[in-house]
Amino acid sequence: MTIVNPLDEISSQNLRQYAGKLLLQNEIPPELTFHFTKIPSIKRKLTRNECQRCGNQKRVLFGTIPCAKCQQSHLYCRNCVAMGRVMECEPLYFWEVEDTNWTSYDSPLSWKGTLTNAQQRASDQLVSTIQEGKKEFLIWAV
Ligand SMILES: [Zn+2]
Ligand SMILES: [Zn+2]
Repeated sequence: MTIVNPLDEISSQNLRQYAGKLLLQNEIPPELTFHFTKIPSIKRKLTRNECQRCGNQKRVLFGTIPCAKCQQSHLYCRNCVAMGRVMECEPLYFWEVEDTNWTSYDSPLSWKGTLTNAQQRASDQLVSTIQEGKKEFLIWAV
């Protein structure tokens, strides 16, 4: 009987999805944790705190929450909570890799095709909204 180390099965392809991201512990499979470097998630500075994931430094955008894990209340970032709560006691993980072999495209973000009349109208309005420097434009696309 041969014992297969499950880690041998993990190709760089699988790991690549984690490259360049700051992740929470629950976003990476436990058996891969050792591939990642931990950094503090919230830096306490002299006058303010800083969320290392979203860069938030606004005092009002930090909350305190009682933490079951460390039995005390501490900071979390409210600014990026929609992506999963960044807790002060939990580090962020990143996977540093030298060569990810990203696919490169000759003409990225280009598309050959024709918009319908309605799409073209929406597109024109969006472009002119940006050119006029307006801040809000609601577009509904399906
Ligand atoms: Zn944040
Ligand atoms: Zn905690």
